[in-house]
Amino acid sequence: MYSGSCLCGDIKFEIKGPITHIVHCHCSECRKAQGSAFATNGIIKLSDFKILSGEEKLTAYESTPGQIKYFCQICGSPIISKTESKPNQVRIRLGTITSDITERPMAHIFTTSKANWEEINGDLPQYESYEPGR
Ligand SMILES: [Zn+2]
Ligand SMILES: [Zn+2]
Repeated sequence: MYSGSCLCGDIKFEIKGPITHIVHCHCSECRKAQGSAFATNGIIKLSDFKILSGEEKLTAYESTPGQIKYFCQICGSPIISKTESKPNQVRIRLGTITSDITERPMAHIFTTSKANWEEINGDLPQYESYEPGR
C-alpha cells in the first residue's frame, strides 16, 4: 500500500497494488507537463487507485485525443493520467507518492526527444520511443 498527495496536500490518494512499467520519459509532452528534464511514470490498475480526499480539486486536461491528465487545480501537481484505449489502468507520476516504493525504474524512453541540455547518466537501458513490449 502506497500513499501520496499533491503539493498543497488537498488531494490525497492511496495505491493498493504494485506499480509496473516505471520509466523516465523524456518526450516533449512529459517535459512540458512536468516542467523538468523528464517525468517518471508508472502504471497501476485503476481498481488499485483510490482518492481519499480532495477529489473535487481534480481538474482535467486532454493533452492528446484520448489521453486525459488529471491535476490539482490549486497547486498544479499532476496526479494521474488515463488513456481511453486502456480503461483499466492509470498512469501515475512517481514524484507524488509519499511512501518509499519497492519497484524501480526500468528504462529511459523517448530519449531522442530529450532536452539538448540534459545528459542521461546511469546504467538503465535507453530507448528512442516506448520500451519494448509496450
Ligand atoms: Zn494540490
Ligand atoms: Zn512522455
